[in-house]
Amino acid sequence: MRVLQDIVQEAVVGFRQMLFPGVCLSCGMPDVDGMELLCPFCRENRFDPANPFRTDSCPGVILPAVLRYQYAMWRYDKGGVLQRLLHNIKYNGLGRLAFELGCIAGVSMRNCPALDGAINTNEPLVLLPVPLHPRRRRMRGFNQAELIALGISQVTGIPVLSDDIVVRTRYTNTQTGFSLMARTRNLNGAFKILNEEEITGKSIIIVDDVFTTGATVFSLAEILNEGNPSEIGVVTIAHA
Ligand SMILES: [Zn+2]
Repeated sequence: MRVLQDIVQEAVVGFRQMLFPGVCLSCGMPDVDGMELLCPFCRENRFDPANPFRTDSCPGVILPAVLRYQYAMWRYDKGGVLQRLLHNIKYNGLGRLAFELGCIAGVSMRNCPALDGAINTNEPLVLLPVPLHPRRRRMRGFNQAELIALGISQVTGIPVLSDDIVVRTRYTNTQTGFSLMARTRNLNGAFKILNEEEITGKSIIIVDDVFTTGATVFSLAEILNEGNPSEIGVVTIAHA
């Protein structure tokens, strides 16, 4: 029943978007000014902040030594509007929304005191979208993490690392339902650095859509650390 309801809701929003391009994808409010997909209220106030205490990581997250900070903008609302939006990016080709969420995240990063040291650093700073396996990228047509990173870059001016520096070498099936240990095992050796010089001495911000158990990001950070970056952190749109 739930699934059917979701499909109908997605179809309605998609249909409305086609007929009235100026409708907020989240709340359906008409007359959104300009080209944006979310209205000002949904951009600023609709979703709960993932880290209201503004510490180096979201509540309940224990970071491995290789990661200095973990920043998520909003709390994931299982079965809610944010989940539907993020789902639509991946499975209904809403790449433009990923870019727009990246822009919103860029503004929110600038306003987060815990990221101050990370963003205002003298070290060369780069954004690294979690790489997708080439086969999955072809199937989807884009890497949503890369579009989010491009949005962050647009607002903050931090460059995005070229996609041939760190690659995903193993095609892993969906990780949903696996324990953290099983996920980490499944990801061992999934990433590879092709050009270590581009990593050494840099402060790297890993970018993804959702931070769930952290298995993917932790595994990527371990590999990156072998290239001796000055610092590694992670920024996502949501924290599940
Ligand atoms: Zn709205």
